Amino acid sequence: MRENIQAVRGMNDLLPGDASAWQALERAARETFAEYGYREIRLPLLERTELFKRSIGEFTDIVEKEMYTFVDRGGDSLTLRPEATAGIVRACLTNGLLHNQRQKVWCMGPMFRYERPQKGRYRQFHQIDVEALGFEGPDVDAELILMSARLWRRLGLAGLTLNVNSLGTPESRAVYRARLVEYFQRHEQALDEDSRRRLSGNPLRIHDSKKPAMREVVAGAPLITDHLDPASAAHFETLRAQLDAAGLAYVVNPRLVRGLDYYSRTVFEWITSDLGSQDAVCSGGRYDGLVEQLGGDPVPAIGWALGEERVVELLRLQGQAVEEPVADVYLALAGAAAEHVGLQLAETLRDAQPGLRVETNCGGGSFKSQLKRADRSGARYAVILGDDEVARRVATVKPLREESEQRQVPLDELPAALAAARAAARTGSD
Ligand code: ATP
Ligand code: MG
Repeated sequence: MRENIQAVRGMNDLLPGDASAWQALERAARETFAEYGYREIRLPLLERTELFKRSIGEFTDIVEKEMYTFVDRGGDSLTLRPEATAGIVRACLTNGLLHNQRQKVWCMGPMFRYERPQKGRYRQFHQIDVEALGFEGPDVDAELILMSARLWRRLGLAGLTLNVNSLGTPESRAVYRARLVEYFQRHEQALDEDSRRRLSGNPLRIHDSKKPAMREVVAGAPLITDHLDPASAAHFETLRAQLDAAGLAYVVNPRLVRGLDYYSRTVFEWITSDLGSQDAVCSGGRYDGLVEQLGGDPVPAIGWALGEERVVELLRLQGQAVEEPVADVYLALAGAAAEHVGLQLAETLRDAQPGLRVETNCGGGSFKSQLKRADRSGARYAVILGDDEVARRVATVKPLREESEQRQVPLDELPAALAAARAAARTGSD
C-alpha cells in the first residue's frame, strides 16, 4: 500500500467551509483601505536573502533561525518572505516609486517563518499589511492606527487593547541601549540563557522575555521612554494627542520594543486576551532608516501588519462567524432530454438574474438522490426538469425551506418566478 503524503508541518489547508470568514476579513480590509486612499501592491513571495538580512537585522529571531532560505539552480540565495515590509521597500526602490512621490499601499498574502507550530503560530501564515512611505508623521502614524481601529469595528471585533510606545531615533536608542546593557550586566546572574545571548546582539528584546523568573529584573530595567530625544518625544506626544482627539483608547507600554531592528519612533501593537499566549493580533511601527539602509535616499515610513489566522480565530471566538453563502436554486435533471437542456437553462437563469446562485446537478443520478443533494446544498428551491417537462416546456419549482406546494412554471417565465421568490425570501428574512 502506498503511504499518503502529509502536508508540511505548520502549514494549513484552508478548506471550503472555512473560506467565507477569510473572504469577509479580506473584503473588510480592502474596503477600509480604499476609504483611506491606500492602493494595492502585489509582490513576489521570494526575495534575495540579503534583503531580509539587511533590513530585519542579523540578530533577530527571524534572521537567526526562522527563515526558509535555499540556493536556487542558478546559485542565488533566496528566501521565502517572512514579512512584507522589506519587499515593499525593495519594490518601491526598484520601480522608482519614491522619486518625488509618496506612497500609501497595502498587500496581503502568505508569510513563512520556521517557528515552533502551535495554536496561532504557524510556519506559513497570512498577513494583511499596510505601509505609508514618504510621510514624517505623526499625522500618518495616527491615521494608520485609526484605520486599524476602523477595521476592527467593521468586523465587529471587541476587546482589543492598543499598546503604543516610541523607540526614539537610532542615536537616542544607542544611548539607551548602552544604559540597558550596563544594567543587565550588573544583574547578569538573574538572566536566562536566551537573554544573555541577546545582551550582546539585541538587548532591547530582553524586555520581551516572558519567563516569570526574569520578571523582577526586567521590571527594574531603565525604560526607553525616559531616554527619548526631544524631537521623538514631541512626535510621540502629538501622536497621543491625535489618538485622544479621536477618542481612541490606548496604553503607553514602555516595554514594547518589537522584534525587528528597523523600527524607530512610533511602535504599536493590538493585543487580545482571548487567544492565550499568541496575543498580538496586529503590530507595526515607524522605520525611518530602512529605505536608506536598503540603498535609497532617506525616506521616512511607517506600517503595520495583522495576522489573518489570529483575526479569523478571534472572529470565531466572538461569535462573528461568517455563514457560508448557499445556492438559491438546485437544478435537478432527470432524463437524457433534461440533461441535454439543463446546462443551457442554468446559463439562461444566471443571465437573467446576475448574482443568482444556481447549482446544477452534474453527473446524473436517480431523481431521489438528486433531491437529497438539493436538500444538502442548502438551496431554497429545487428546480426539477424531467423529460416530460422538457417536452411541455415547463419546470417544477419545489420550495425546500418552506411549507408551500411545488408548482409548474413555463420555462420562459422561470427567471421572473425565481426572482420574485428570491426577493420575497430576502424581505421575509430581514
Ligand atoms: P509574535 O510576538 O506573536 O511572534 P511578531 O512580533 O513576530 O508576533 P510581526 O512580525 O509583527 O509579529 O507580524 C505581525 C502579525 O503577524 C502579528 O501580530 C501576528 O498577528 C502575526 N504573526 C506573526 N507571526 C506569526 C505566525 N508564525 N503565525 C501566525 N501569525 C503570526
Ligand atoms: Mg514572532
